Amino acid sequence: MSSDLERQLFEAAWVVPMNRAPIAGGGVVIEAGRILAVGKADDLHKRFPDAQRLDFRHCTLVPGLINAHTHLELSAIRCTAPAGKFIDWLTRLVPNASVPLDRQAESIGAATRAGIEQCLRFGVTTVGDISRFCSITRVDLRESRLRAVSFGEVLAMGQRRGLLEERLAKAADRSLETELLRIGITPHAPYSIESHGYERCLSMAQSMNLPFTTHLAETPDEATFLSDHAGPFRELWERIGGWDSQVNRFTGGPIRYAAELGLLDYPTLLAHVNYCDDDELAILARGKASVVYCPRTHAYFGHPPHRWRDMLKAGINVTIGTDSCASSPDLNLVDDLRLLHELAPDVAPGVLWEMTTTRASRSLGLQDQIGSLAPGKSADLTAFPTTSDAPLREILETPILPSANWVAGRKTLPAISE
Ligand SMILES: [Zn+2]
Repeated sequence: MSSDLERQLFEAAWVVPMNRAPIAGGGVVIEAGRILAVGKADDLHKRFPDAQRLDFRHCTLVPGLINAHTHLELSAIRCTAPAGKFIDWLTRLVPNASVPLDRQAESIGAATRAGIEQCLRFGVTTVGDISRFCSITRVDLRESRLRAVSFGEVLAMGQRRGLLEERLAKAADRSLETELLRIGITPHAPYSIESHGYERCLSMAQSMNLPFTTHLAETPDEATFLSDHAGPFRELWERIGGWDSQVNRFTGGPIRYAAELGLLDYPTLLAHVNYCDDDELAILARGKASVVYCPRTHAYFGHPPHRWRDMLKAGINVTIGTDSCASSPDLNLVDDLRLLHELAPDVAPGVLWEMTTTRASRSLGLQDQIGSLAPGKSADLTAFPTTSDAPLREILETPILPSANWVAGRKTLPAISE
């Protein structure tokens, strides 16, 4: 059995560092959880003759995959029924208040652990996880080998306005933080937290230098709700109760609203942005925010085509996520990449892979640690079996699963260390 601290040389059919061209017959040297060198395996063997050699010559090594937007605590839900209307789907996710709190905690923990297990099985080594019950889910994340930014979710609107500070304090609580578990904040969405709440969350994130995300422009109904307090989101509020007349209004749609609140002056991660006209795209391009597109979830709800290619062209950092098991068949992030490849076969596979590696690390503020295989970065790696000279394309065009992965040099798949 080898120690995590030992110097090891991974020899692979291909190494795809993402910050430079793929290397045939490549190698990666790691030590104490970090990458020491990347290059041709033969050269690395000469430079580091004492390194333990690990044979992955039937595999392609890529940076550990990053799922920038998911909700692990919803992993027990199966998305078998058609989505129907967005608010009906949303209502189905509201926790059943008649279930006692301790039983809820038990099922939230179990769902989170099942989600973590899925991520690792599918080659994902880092998640941007949205959590309404972050004091429970952070315990499970902390005990896992998955790297995560745990975004504590804050909702505070209407008669629930007064819960803002308590919920924000819980979201920003760093007591469970570790090297692998970073804390972030997420005001939920423009229909569930008011402008004052957004501003408080943002200023907390700024002062503590925390990652920050929110759901935005997910459906066209957000604009109607913001300007007129009308439409399906208002109906939802009537259904669940708790509305009051002091909720602020805004005309101009959710993207201008985000700009007005200062969200685009911070490296905010905007989840979805399914509805975005040319003027709004230009507003995003002037700001610092990233966008996370969730291809299979987007398809589940039948939204019009996402403008991710226009966004990339305009210089916006676009990454991808699965969203939760409530809107996606599972947390297999590569299947989201495969759908993108099907939708846009003319886009080079390397450009798609950037969206789960280099671009994704930037969207979570982890670009100095992960996202590419480069000396000094954490040894987060995923290995896929490979038989061709176009390994990234091969993974997109065959339903293969990864054969191994590592987080900070520790093997996380298969789960039992060898
Ligand atoms: Zn979401």
